Amino acid sequence: MPELPEVESVRRSLLPHLIGRQVARVIIGRTDIVTPPLAEADLAAHMLQGQILQRVDRIGKQLLLHAASGQAIGIHLGMTGQCTVLRPGEQPERSDHIHMRWQLVDPARPTATAAELFFRDPRRFGELRWFDDPAAVAAFATRLGPDALAITGEDLFERAHTSRRAIKAVLLDQAVLAGVGNIYADEALHASHIRPRRAATRVTRAEYESLAAAIRAVLASAVTAGGSTLRDYLDADGNRGSFAAAHRVYGRGGQPCLTCSATLKQCQAAQRTTVFCTNCQR
Ligand SMILES: [Zn+2]
Repeated sequence: MPELPEVESVRRSLLPHLIGRQVARVIIGRTDIVTPPLAEADLAAHMLQGQILQRVDRIGKQLLLHAASGQAIGIHLGMTGQCTVLRPGEQPERSDHIHMRWQLVDPARPTATAAELFFRDPRRFGELRWFDDPAAVAAFATRLGPDALAITGEDLFERAHTSRRAIKAVLLDQAVLAGVGNIYADEALHASHIRPRRAATRVTRAEYESLAAAIRAVLASAVTAGGSTLRDYLDADGNRGSFAAAHRVYGRGGQPCLTCSATLKQCQAAQRTTVFCTNCQR
């Protein structure tokens, strides 16, 4: 599932294709991936048809396409969502499961398609969310915690330390901290020597400092590597991320810890497969 680094890589790869371009036409594949639900007749207007794209932002794992008018679309990639951009004449590698397409033009040359944005999602856990104005975007953003790429130890401590849940479950809660999923939770907990199933109340103030630092560091390294491609994830240009090769615990249960050589243990925490080192993590 795409987490913050993958979504950030998609965001960066979208910028050169989208900014300043106009949505000439929206081609609707499925209506049931749009939230809140809309009649098909109203859908294109809310998917920014006719609008000039001004900014692509990210909050946690959510992409936000902002139009100059103040309207916006949130794109959540879910498990298998992909945002791909093709130039005129290029064909998508897979044409199945494409649920929405945006034909883009340069406003100075409105008759020639400059690029096309595709949203493809085989398993359909992703969604497209429409916003009528910046206030609607801001209201949505309040549901999410601060972005994990900039989380401070103090902020994480304040938001997490009263929870009776396991620290890993707290890290996965997007209302506490936005952007961390299973991969980067395991990596950050290993880097900060904290066991995933320890109660958040029992993580010390100093440990929250090192945990926040580890979250920022692992996410920043993963963004630099273009994210982790495990299965479906690709950026807008179809490139894979290379950070999976740098995972120290995620997906390595039963293999030696890269820090101490003890055998990494696999368990369930927060209903997710979790890998940790009983020697390095306390
Ligand atoms: Zn170890």
